[in-house]
Amino acid sequence: MKRRAATLAALLLAGCATPPQGAAPAARPHADFLVLDTHLDTPLHFARPGWSFAGHHDPATDLVQVDMERMEAGALDGGFFAIYTEQGPLTPKGYADALAYARGRSDLIDATIAKFPDRIGRALTPADALRLDRAHKLVAFKSMENSYELGEDLSLLREFHDRGVRLAGPVHGANNQFADSSGDKPRWHGLSPLGRKWVAEMNRLGMVIDASHSSDDTFDQMLELSRTPLLLSHSSGRWAFDHPRNLDDARIRKLAAKGGAICVSTIFLSDMNLGPERAALFAKYEHISELTPEAQVDLARRWRALDATQPMWHADFERYMAMVLHVIEVAGVDHVCFGADWDGGGGLPGIADISALPRVTERLRQAGYSDADLAKMWSGNILRILGEAERAASAR
Ligand SMILES: [Zn+2]
Repeated sequence: MKRRAATLAALLLAGCATPPQGAAPAARPHADFLVLDTHLDTPLHFARPGWSFAGHHDPATDLVQVDMERMEAGALDGGFFAIYTEQGPLTPKGYADALAYARGRSDLIDATIAKFPDRIGRALTPADALRLDRAHKLVAFKSMENSYELGEDLSLLREFHDRGVRLAGPVHGANNQFADSSGDKPRWHGLSPLGRKWVAEMNRLGMVIDASHSSDDTFDQMLELSRTPLLLSHSSGRWAFDHPRNLDDARIRKLAAKGGAICVSTIFLSDMNLGPERAALFAKYEHISELTPEAQVDLARRWRALDATQPMWHADFERYMAMVLHVIEVAGVDHVCFGADWDGGGGLPGIADISALPRVTERLRQAGYSDADLAKMWSGNILRILGEAERAASAR
């Protein structure tokens, strides 16, 4: 149950919906904002046999960072559940295998959401998100991280649009048939010829282009070509740490000038401390659904123990907020949103899972940002960009 209704009801009952004259209006609590995150890797957990999105999950024994219990406690109202497809060879066989996997992942997200019709619903449009929120339900958009699974057949993008995907990026950690990745050496020097067609098809269908994981050249070319604003669903600023996965200030300004937004992540605020032990645990984590329940608990315990001695990132909540404030200063409040990379490697001491999100609101308020600013950053900017893509679509 969201606190919003209770707070409003309490105010009305007490007859004090209007603050007494001279008193500053009470600041809206975090739970009163529509709070969305643009990149949730939580579907990885949906695949775990016997695991429930509705269950209670103790961080000591379960690595999941997003679940309905914590969402409904008022931290997060929803976001984009990602169809993440691991990249294999750029061959017909590789594409076919990835397509089968991505279709299955899409079905899994739908099936998980459909289990709880009274608590969460699928959203395709900004209006859907607002309607669900008014009904005190959580909001599930769908996105695609990596377009590798489309192979060379761009008509498949229409299929994923029909499946409800409204946000997609061309590439993940390695170059593919569409574009260069920030994690690889230049092959196309940006978009491939097919990648340029991918941009046009995304625009035609009214889908938002996600530039997280793209190389700088790919970002520049998508910004130039796209008829609608870009979103970076989970990216940090190069101001915090000079890494190709992060966006530099000049590009943040260009993104904002064209109406786009950067949804700030908690990753790459420092070098990634991926020693052999963590790498082994990470590999297991990525295939957690294949582990027995006992092995899943063991993985969580070993992960937490390693956190204590060799943290994955040399950053914390304070460092995260310093970067968020810098990005707001560079981009402006109309061009910032949040995509922490929950369940995909995100989380830092002090902001370890979604239950820490009220602290972000508190800190932004201390920095002088208004309720209106916060409403934009927590979801308004995302919904505006979705709406722009929808209106510009020419495929209907
Ligand atoms: Zn990612």
